[in-house]
Amino acid sequence: MDPRFDVVVVGGGIVGLATAHAVVRTGRTVAVIEREPRLASHQTGHNSNVIHSGLYYAPGGLKARLAPAGCAETVAFCREHDLPHTVSGKLVVATEPGELPRMAELERRGHANGVENHRLDARGMREHEPHVRGVAALWVPSTAICDYRAIAEKLGELITRSGGQILLGRTVRRAVRRTGEVVVHTGAGDLLAGQVVVCGGLHSDELALASGADPGVRIIPFRGEYSGLTGEAAELVRGLIYPVPDPAFPFLGVHATRGVDGQVHAGPNAVLALAREGYSWGTIRPRELAQSLTYPGMARLARKHWRYGLGEMYRSVSRHAMVKQIQRMLPDVRAEHLTPAGAGVRAQAVRPDGTLVDDFLFVGQGDGPGSVLHVLNAPSPAATAALPIGREILTRLTGDTLGPL
Ligand SMILES: Cc1cc2nc3c(=O)[nH]c(=O)nc-3n(C[C@H](O)[C@H](O)[C@H](O)COP(=O)(O)OP(=O)(O)OC[C@H]3O[C@@H](n4cnc5c(N)ncnc54)[C@H](O)[C@@H]3O)c2cc1C
Repeated sequence: MDPRFDVVVVGGGIVGLATAHAVVRTGRTVAVIEREPRLASHQTGHNSNVIHSGLYYAPGGLKARLAPAGCAETVAFCREHDLPHTVSGKLVVATEPGELPRMAELERRGHANGVENHRLDARGMREHEPHVRGVAALWVPSTAICDYRAIAEKLGELITRSGGQILLGRTVRRAVRRTGEVVVHTGAGDLLAGQVVVCGGLHSDELALASGADPGVRIIPFRGEYSGLTGEAAELVRGLIYPVPDPAFPFLGVHATRGVDGQVHAGPNAVLALAREGYSWGTIRPRELAQSLTYPGMARLARKHWRYGLGEMYRSVSRHAMVKQIQRMLPDVRAEHLTPAGAGVRAQAVRPDGTLVDDFLFVGQGDGPGSVLHVLNAPSPAATAALPIGREILTRLTGDTLGPL
């Protein structure tokens, strides 16, 4: 007999785990299937570890609603479970007058989303960050730092403690719908589920296609590389220093962060990864690269943004080019202060017309028993927003609503 669960969640990143956690809170049986030997092996374990306030996101969208809620809930979760975190606040710095209209738009969005933020002049910003250079800044007190891997592992512990199962090292091939139930085919046997949620991150489009859903998008992997700031440069950063982002992209720009371990990082940039799990230029998977390069949306994206893309590639390979970018906000940083400090790969959904999907995206196959829900775009701030995203998915799946923990 195949084991049967009310809900099977594919993917042991923070979104899958938060979903499974919401499901077990309702008393349903759940299994999380993760193909790696460890939870949080991809985006969740390779990011900036920032608990975002919800400042940036277009009012009315899912990000605008779920990020501010997630910010408060993630801090409360860390506090309750004694996980490392600090509510350090963050500075968004306009380095030249041309950026002020975009900063004003962030201020407006922040207020519309209920996120406290204050405009500072050059003197005011240096009270928070004495080494920063800019013409004006926004101070956002609720932004915090944490360790998302630790949060994911704690969620895993809570799920198993409530009777849920976490199956590691098991790859899901596809989910096949039957009347009233779904068969989840894995590399090590099948499972039966009443309903399935696929939170496969970098593989979410492939899993949707294999399960007979039309994702409407492709996942293009964009690597974000970090540099460590060493020596006296580490003393130049107290908390979190961000640029005003370019609204053409859903990326927040290279920022400087002091993590919960006290280490200071600058990054991430955004370059096309040559494999879905392409954590360095040396990791190339020809089939996956061909999938990216032959996708019509990729060609359109490249035509529109080739100059930006080349600039990012140049900054990826040249430490001097990268340092120039950081110096816009922190002029005292020197190339010799930077050391390579790892990378993460973003699972970014791109439409056939070349637009980058900005908001979270869910695609459903059916309703009620026998249905499958695919999470197709869960980029930043989905780690911040994971707890409310999990409850949102539960509601879409079952109609049940849950309050925060
Ligand atoms: C460089 C970078 C910086 C970021 N910074 C921040 C930040 O500071 N704050 C923030 O809120 N967000 C940040 N994000 C975004 C955040 O990391 C993601 O939004 C979040 O981790 C998404 O979680 P997930 O569970 O959807 O994906 P993942 O963590 O990628 O999890 C997906 C899981 O599915 C598994 N899987 C895939 N295919 C299969 C299969 N066939 N069978 C079984 N399992 C499978 C994978 O192994 C993986 O563990 C950042 C992301 C990156 C890359």
